[in-house]
Amino acid sequence: PTLRPDPLPEDVAEDTRALRPQVLDAFIGQAEARANLKVFIQSARQRGEAMDHTLFHGPPGLGKTTLAQIMARELGVNFRMTSGPVLAKAGDLAAILTNLEARDVLFIDEIHRLNPAVEEVLYPAMEDFELDLVIGEGPAARTVRIELQPFTLVGATTRLGLLTTPLRDRFGIPTRLQFYTVEELNEIVTRNARLMGAPADPEGAMEIARRARGTPRIAGRLLRRVVDFAVVEGDGRITRELADNALTRLGVDSIGLDSADRRYMQLIGEGYGGGPVGIETMAAALSESRDALEEVIEPYLLQQTLIQRTPRGRMLTQRAWDHLGLNPPRRGPG
Ligand code: ADP
Repeated sequence: PTLRPDPLPEDVAEDTRALRPQVLDAFIGQAEARANLKVFIQSARQRGEAMDHTLFHGPPGLGKTTLAQIMARELGVNFRMTSGPVLAKAGDLAAILTNLEARDVLFIDEIHRLNPAVEEVLYPAMEDFELDLVIGEGPAARTVRIELQPFTLVGATTRLGLLTTPLRDRFGIPTRLQFYTVEELNEIVTRNARLMGAPADPEGAMEIARRARGTPRIAGRLLRRVVDFAVVEGDGRITRELADNALTRLGVDSIGLDSADRRYMQLIGEGYGGGPVGIETMAAALSESRDALEEVIEPYLLQQTLIQRTPRGRMLTQRAWDHLGLNPPRRGPG
């Protein structure tokens, strides 16, 4: 689970230790998104209006929540947070919306998982800052309209394709977050190691950055484990050897793959001659849900060009064969 980008309780604890960047200028990476947000935030402040609704999409752990919090802080407004699966009934959302103050940021994580009845409430709220509530039942039911304070909705999703078109269309600022480069992760690791009181040599930080799967959340998690080894078995400093030993003992290989990733690639390679093999077959053979494969395992393997998605299924690339130390099967002529 170390390499899964979904949040764990220990990640939340880390965030309360103020490792999370607090202002846009301290946020490393995502240069394009950051430059745009800077303009939109400043414009909203100068006009004294709520900033446009913003949608962050991209794999977990890349900083969607962090950016939403930074937006609220830089706009000088309150930050309210909820998530798609938590909002079970229209009334749950109505209660939150009616409590917002002018220009507040409301962050809805996993917004692709909103119940349709709740989503209906969101449309007029986003568009006209109005709420249509149905009071009573049957023939006595009537609709009352409630005016809301203008607010900024910040939605986050790992699955843009699962968002309904009407919801998607209501975001003025759609922003895709990218995997981080090794250099950017190196900066993040170096900064956090210093803040944790376990300074990292440049090569030590680099060793962690290279294995962090382009994802700050994973970099943070690997760093915490390496710090444990540095404190107990070293002198508290993070060197390349120490990081390499610690991460190898944790089953994290040189490019950040763990046993689940290798199992996934070996299944295609050894089980299906390199593919193509359908995602449902993969899910059944690995006893994983299709969603888990598509959201958690595949994005990084695709980004690393270790696998390819084709209309007929998943295939290994030459790079994957090399990494696994296996030979691709010879294909007969024609
Ligand atoms: P998401 O909402 O996309 O899943 P989060 O915003 O919760 O991701 O970020 C995951 C973790 O990574 C947090 O601990 C956060 O502090 C850290 N993090 C994310 N982006 C950065 C960054 N650019 N610089 C430093 N730390 C970051």
